[in-house]
Amino acid sequence: MEPSTQPSSLRPSTRAVHAGRPDRTPDSPLNEPITMASTYVAGGTTEYGRYGNPTWTALEEAIGSLEGGRCLTFASGLAAVSTVLDLVGAGQKVVAPRHSYNGTVMQLADLESRGRIVAELVDITDTDAVVSACADAALVWLESPTNPALEVADIATITAAAQEAGAYVVVDNTFATPLLQTPFDHDVDIVVHSATKFLAGHSDVLMGAVCTRDDELYDVLKSRRDLLGAIPGAFEAWLTLRGLRTLHLRVERAQANAQELVTRLREHPAVGEVRYPGFGAIVSVVLAPSDTNQGELAADLLTRKTSLWVHATSLGGVESTFERRRRWKTEPATIPDALVRMSVGIEDVEDLWDDLRQALDGCVG
Ligand SMILES: *Cc1c(COP(=O)(O)O)cnc(C)c1O
Repeated sequence: MEPSTQPSSLRPSTRAVHAGRPDRTPDSPLNEPITMASTYVAGGTTEYGRYGNPTWTALEEAIGSLEGGRCLTFASGLAAVSTVLDLVGAGQKVVAPRHSYNGTVMQLADLESRGRIVAELVDITDTDAVVSACADAALVWLESPTNPALEVADIATITAAAQEAGAYVVVDNTFATPLLQTPFDHDVDIVVHSATKFLAGHSDVLMGAVCTRDDELYDVLKSRRDLLGAIPGAFEAWLTLRGLRTLHLRVERAQANAQELVTRLREHPAVGEVRYPGFGAIVSVVLAPSDTNQGELAADLLTRKTSLWVHATSLGGVESTFERRRRWKTEPATIPDALVRMSVGIEDVEDLWDDLRQALDGCVG
């Protein structure tokens, strides 16, 4: 569904700027204001602050317009993930990439340990194996590219097989953003975002989003949000929409920076491997092993030796950040110890490289 005021012929960059704006009546603001309300005068369609808020609605129109579906926003990406996983009936099976976002994998493990679901974690690049795993699944979770391994799934083939088997297909589109990948083109059922990352884009807000083109599914998810209560704050929704207005500029610049850095990183002797799917602004590097260790010491050293790159978790902000992912105990053992996930920002690429190169130089040997 396109928001009523936005012709679908408009290109994505224009929709990022224009979708979800108030009607143009004299003296109305150009931007949807922040509505602080826990309750509304009775007799309307919203009634209570857990059921709706005009500031969320504006953000939902904008994200929905970019993905090509109807959107619901949530308090965080993981609130969106848990609301979608709540669709799975007792004892039913979920197929998911073993290298999904760590919080998603942990949520699946938690649900499985309490007997709520059966989870099968798969190598998402092995399409045949994923297709066979889909046969008795109720829900197939895709993340592409994966976090932080940056593997790419064959979304079209897996979706067709999973839907044939009667499973819902969900794509976590956080890394690609709707500007680089629109999963509804492959007829998936649900698209999920950690809007905390690129959509909001300024490392100052947590926000989640769920999109679907299916009105019935929308109603089910909306009623789950109403009951579970994982709703966003009005101020956070407003900040996210403000950030979203420049999504296309940020993604374009960050991606160009990432592509340039990938070329240079591949030449540096301290770097053993560069993982990059060819698009987007997330790059993972595996530091080369030395005589004394597998590269994890170099990876830790790298994150301490920069002045511009910030050592921090999360990603998708205007500022470049990076971290050694295995510093988190819950990160799967199949992620190399020496892997540093880099979230490339929108700074001048020469400054980013100068800072990175001097730090990498100090990691050689
Ligand atoms: C960060 C992230 C999430 C979780 O989102 P939060 O906003 O941190 O709750 C989910 N999926 C991916 C791919 C992420 O990077």
